[in-house]
Amino acid sequence: MIGLDLLWLLLPVAAASGWLVGRRAVEPREAPPARGRLGSDYYRGINYLLNEQPDKAIEVFIELLEVDSETAQTHIALGNLYRRRGEVDRAIRIHQNLVSRAGDRSGERHDALLELAQDYLSAGLLDRAENLFLELSEISGYEVQALRQLIDIYEQERDWEKAVRSVRQLERVTGNQLGVVIAHYQCEEAQRLRAAGDAGAALAQARAALASHRGSVRASLLEGELLQASGDIDGALDAFRRVETQDPDYIPVAVPRIEECFRLGGRRGELGAVLERLAEAHGGVTVLLARAKVVAEAEGARAAVDMLAAALRSRSSVRGLDRLVELERQLLRGGREPREAAHLEILSTLTRELLRDRPVYQCSHCGFPARSLHWQCPSCKHWNTVKPIRGVDGE
Ligand SMILES: [Zn+2]
Repeated sequence: MIGLDLLWLLLPVAAASGWLVGRRAVEPREAPPARGRLGSDYYRGINYLLNEQPDKAIEVFIELLEVDSETAQTHIALGNLYRRRGEVDRAIRIHQNLVSRAGDRSGERHDALLELAQDYLSAGLLDRAENLFLELSEISGYEVQALRQLIDIYEQERDWEKAVRSVRQLERVTGNQLGVVIAHYQCEEAQRLRAAGDAGAALAQARAALASHRGSVRASLLEGELLQASGDIDGALDAFRRVETQDPDYIPVAVPRIEECFRLGGRRGELGAVLERLAEAHGGVTVLLARAKVVAEAEGARAAVDMLAAALRSRSSVRGLDRLVELERQLLRGGREPREAAHLEILSTLTRELLRDRPVYQCSHCGFPARSLHWQCPSCKHWNTVKPIRGVDGE
């Protein structure tokens, strides 16, 4: 505790003679020149520190010390040390003092404002932090850092409109295209509107998200769900089928919705051909299982078993095997093959065991495993990186 507080002793010395010289000057034998200049208040401050009363010491030093270009960075560094130790109140006092004493030295004032905003953020005072970052976002050299912090704050507050505005400003400042992130914010807003019962405004937001990023799978899924709910099944189907061209990795997410629309729209006959084409172009066990269902309905379980077995010969899949065993058991039910039924029972237990509690999705950036689809990785906060897992026990 006292170690950090004693760093205050270096401040006046840095003021008098620069940092390096100052380090030597704290040696007792070189103290006299400092004493003459600093007077009794300085030693009063030291007494407070030695008596472990750092708050009183800080008051004395803040009163005592001039802030100038020599000491400003030391003040900032000390404030930051306090913040990192979780003593945010002290950090705020030091940085506030700097801001008020910086006068017309705008560089120092802005550096101190940036740190003060971080202090407020650490203290959970988001409104105050937001105001300072807004001020800094208009100042050359500080825009990028301030805008990134503002975007973080708006994400925490789920204020998507302000988040979109800040990302657009960041696009202008950096020249980077950030449509992917903007589209996600607009989708978040669409979801909020849908939950509030305003389907029309939600649809408009989903379409705005598509305009921001043509490849937004999430916006297509949202548009499809909203159109389906309004009874526009063909429109919904167009939106869901668009996912294939946007990002084939998400086909497993779109397939159940595509299936449902074909069934709702009375176009079940076309579903088989659509799934077959998807399977040929992209593979994947979700499409395979959807095809097996269509074949089982149209031609019976035996045909579905033959189709599945042929597909699994060229590509192993636990989920495929699980369905195959299930279909075989259906065929055996009521039959006179007790030994075969017992073997299938064992196999079925094994596949269920292998699939139980397995993550279905994984973040391609940090490896975070998930049972449900997250558009923003809960671990690394990247967008669009959590996708269906591929491989023997996945897609
Ligand atoms: Zn991640």
